Amino acid sequence: MRTVFVGPPGSGKGTQARLLAERFGYDVIGTGDLLRAAVADGSTHGKIAGQAMARGELVSDAVVNEIVHDYFLRPNRPANFVLDGYPRTVAQAEYLTRTLAETRIPLDRVIYFTVAVEELVRRIDGRRQAENRLDDNAEAVRQRMVTYEELTRPVVDYYRAAGLLAEVPATGDVEAIHRRVVELLK
Ligand code: AMP
Repeated sequence: MRTVFVGPPGSGKGTQARLLAERFGYDVIGTGDLLRAAVADGSTHGKIAGQAMARGELVSDAVVNEIVHDYFLRPNRPANFVLDGYPRTVAQAEYLTRTLAETRIPLDRVIYFTVAVEELVRRIDGRRQAENRLDDNAEAVRQRMVTYEELTRPVVDYYRAAGLLAEVPATGDVEAIHRRVVELLK
């Protein structure tokens, strides 16, 4: 199965991607994690990315597309993967479609995690206390929500039009959500 997870910040995509990796051997490509690693390395890419991330804005399509392109052109790329947090713009989605067409590995499904806004704010607040992420300050969180609405929500429409979208209500117990995801990937 080749799948994309899309949903607002705090919708639990990352947790669900990790469960698929642990239990079913999926390879997870999380652009947020890869970018945080680049920031920690102190590379030029990392420095530019870190500034956008700290403000809750998106890193440029060019930088993120390059990361994803490198991943898919590896000779030993896995048969089952989850893209977590990519694509986040329609331009990224179009780029991904072209890249996967080149490598002849089209997507099977896109899982869209839906959660009420009040619940998202509560979850991100909890995570801020637990993880101390550089972009979990109140202003960056607000900006990430705005960015999501403006730039990422159209990605949901892009995949709906392509007939690939499946919606998962991402509220309630982590295990229950996991079971819903597994059903949709059958
Ligand atoms: P995440 O861990 O997925 O919530 O991502 C954290 C931050 O990394 C985001 O708020 C963006 O600044 C940046 N980021 C992650 N993925 C992307 C992407 N696909 N395009 C642009 N920026 C991204």
